[in-house]
Amino acid sequence: MSQFFTRYTELGETYLVPQQPYQFEQAQLLLTNQPLLTELGFEIDQQALRDYLAGVSQVERIQPVAMAYCGHQFGHFNPQLGDGRAHLIASIAAADGLNYDMHLKGSGATVFSRGGDGLCALGPAIREYIMSHAMQALGVPTTHCLAVLSTGQQVIRQTPEPGAVVCRIARSHIRVGTFQLMAMNKDVAAMSKLVELCIREHYSDITSSGEARIFDFFTQVCQRQCALILKWMQVGFIHGVMNTDNTLINGETIDYGPCAMMESFSFDTVFSSIDRQGRYAFGQQPNIASWNCGRLAESLMVLIEDKDAALERFSSILSQFAESFNEGYQVMWSKKLGIGTWEESDQALLSELLSLMQQNKLDYTNTFAALTNALHASPLTTYPLPEVLADWVSKWRKRISGHSGAEALALMQSVNPAIIPRNDLVERFIAQFNEGTQSDEFTDWLTALKTPYTYQAYPVQWTATMAHEQAYQTFC
Ligand code: AMP
Ligand code: MG
Ligand code: MG
Repeated sequence: MSQFFTRYTELGETYLVPQQPYQFEQAQLLLTNQPLLTELGFEIDQQALRDYLAGVSQVERIQPVAMAYCGHQFGHFNPQLGDGRAHLIASIAAADGLNYDMHLKGSGATVFSRGGDGLCALGPAIREYIMSHAMQALGVPTTHCLAVLSTGQQVIRQTPEPGAVVCRIARSHIRVGTFQLMAMNKDVAAMSKLVELCIREHYSDITSSGEARIFDFFTQVCQRQCALILKWMQVGFIHGVMNTDNTLINGETIDYGPCAMMESFSFDTVFSSIDRQGRYAFGQQPNIASWNCGRLAESLMVLIEDKDAALERFSSILSQFAESFNEGYQVMWSKKLGIGTWEESDQALLSELLSLMQQNKLDYTNTFAALTNALHASPLTTYPLPEVLADWVSKWRKRISGHSGAEALALMQSVNPAIIPRNDLVERFIAQFNEGTQSDEFTDWLTALKTPYTYQAYPVQWTATMAHEQAYQTFC
């Protein structure tokens, strides 16, 4: 049986401001993540869950709060962010022995709304549910979505849209931006507590003390960010809004606002309607994650006496980020290509493939799925090898013939998904929810997304590259 408690209280009311969610009397549960409820050991009936998430009833003895943070948004520092449309309504000591936050998004305006309406449209709520579900199954560290509620009210976006509340379950809601706010406030006491809290809950193997503890903490945060971005690159995920307030300190993916999966391969792919400069393009993600870690280092400076020495230390840890990324990146590509040990000449083989893919607008997922499928004893027709790759494929086959086919296949199948949440489908199912015409296909598709590395003959529309990718835009 899980237990509710109030988390982060030691940080004080500057950082957690008591705020009431709106009460949505007409709210209805549209989606509930039953497996997540079970994993958490959270025993609750649908009515009680609806009431909590609709703001109609409050979790016993727990004051909902909006959390304060700053953030660099598209490279520009914004000192006054915070949960402008979200409430932390409780934390749960779950069956797995870990703590999770229960967080509502779209639950009403707060002191941090800055003129925003505090609401969430149903479309982005459904996107968050689908994407976090798919990302978990793909093996990417992520926050989870427990439920989506329709509020029964309209929200005004480009056009009026149905309103929704998302319930997010996350191991942490501490962001790089939380540290930035404490640094701005020169609040050494709060930041010391925050570092301790993060170490206790997410980096408990750190045993050093004094300033070494800060550097060790920073090192590990960088490592987690690096591991996270490698996973994004592996599956073709484009976050779309990698601001420092959307960078969780424990290295999980948060804020599925304008995210999307890359379909045609290009490092320059951008879908987010708000990312006009391509700052958060697919291939920029490693640089940006490192840049965001730099902002954390700057913030941690307030805890350090000898700033000059610390600058050097932080810089050297950050340069390690690039090195670790490059090492991990090589491992990632070697697995995606079924190569056991990377050799220098493999770089040329990879580059040739990537440029063929880019020139011919080949689908990232389907190309690697086709290569994987080609190694199966009886390949499926679902993943045909593109004609334009014929010459390259014979070179590749020669390269991997050194080790057993089974070995290459196992490597490739562990990292090359056969099915991902494709943008056309996400949009189609969002449209169905907006119209109130939910289909069985949606449920079947979600089930298939649970085992994305399973190669089987999926319905063609589940694996087809989207038709008008150039024009595709996402909104948060
Ligand atoms: P995001 O880019 O989604 O991380 O949002 C950045 C900031 O804007 C956060 O502080 C959000 O709480 C706030 N925000 C986003 N949408 C709204 C909204 N509709 N009403 C109020 N605040 C919002
Ligand atoms: Mg955010
Ligand atoms: Mg957002």
